[in-house]
Amino acid sequence: IGSQVLEIIRNSEFVLKGCSCGKNIKKMEEIINEFHPKYVSVIEKSDYEYLQNKYPDIEFGYGEDGLIKTAIYNKEEDGTVINAVVGICGLKPTYEAIKASRNVLLANKETLVVGGEIIIKLAKEKNVKIIPVDSEHNAISRLLDNHHEKTVEKIIITASGGSFLHKNRTELENVTVKEALNHPNWSMGSKITIDSATMVNKGLEVIEAHYLFDVEYDQIETVIHKQSIIHSMVEFVDGTVTALMYKPTMKNPISYAMFNEEVKSDFPKIDFTKSFSLDFQKMDYERFPMIKLAYEVGKEKGIMPCVYNAANEVCVELFLKGKIKFLEIAEIVEEAMLNHKNVLNPSLDDIIDTDRFVREEVYSKW
Ligand code: MG
Repeated sequence: IGSQVLEIIRNSEFVLKGCSCGKNIKKMEEIINEFHPKYVSVIEKSDYEYLQNKYPDIEFGYGEDGLIKTAIYNKEEDGTVINAVVGICGLKPTYEAIKASRNVLLANKETLVVGGEIIIKLAKEKNVKIIPVDSEHNAISRLLDNHHEKTVEKIIITASGGSFLHKNRTELENVTVKEALNHPNWSMGSKITIDSATMVNKGLEVIEAHYLFDVEYDQIETVIHKQSIIHSMVEFVDGTVTALMYKPTMKNPISYAMFNEEVKSDFPKIDFTKSFSLDFQKMDYERFPMIKLAYEVGKEKGIMPCVYNAANEVCVELFLKGKIKFLEIAEIVEEAMLNHKNVLNPSLDDIIDTDRFVREEVYSKW
């Protein structure tokens, strides 16, 4: 997401004031040399020291604190924050950006999944917009534009089906990490690719949709659409269904989120002079138990989505390291859910504590 945002900034009037990265310092130096940001944050203190030494005119930060400072750098100035970090470390930067009255272009799933109630309430208080970058939510926000909410019957989130669309439960038992990482339509990081094979990714998107669009869980449906041409749909009370279509590229939703309108581009176009089909397949909640569990934790609210998310994150890591099998992911997450009593209306700290606790618990067992 970050590289594609930079591509847009390169060809527009946007200015990059601050940015953060993980451990790819070489890439960050290229970014610094081209875009001249005023604030830069990294994960490691040693990288911070190296960069601060090399670029004394730029302000640097590191760790959680650095990430938050990136989001609120020069907060008296107008600015938009694009949050595309992976994991719960994205929660506090979003929270602080909203507190500083900055609109947030959100590509960090955890923000709304674990902190939805707090974040949406704060955004309303601050009159701040949360603009979804994820292709599905970006599509839904565009489809809902100008429609009165009472005319909306339901939201239909499309799912590509992930790497194992054609495998049954028995075949899923011994799938390898390599097979799981081989996604047919999207090239993404390993965490999200595994999450799309288990359908967790869609589960998290259901919870996000609940908060972003203020719809009940029984108004949110998911459907498998393997071509990833339709990026989600909205059904209205008169039976009309609208769909947003484009060839799968994240450049489209990122661009729309940044400009708030369609911008002339060379993104790949759908060619209607050639025949092609769009398929829809019912979501199978038995084959993909993680999506069923996502609806459950979503409805339970409180800290349960956090328990689900934290346990899943550890499971993905364990699976990638070859320590657990693919189907064990759902078993371990369900067990973590059973082990936890819900706490309603949690604070940010309750959420972060729960996240840490669940992680330690799952790690200690495996
Ligand atoms: Mg998505």
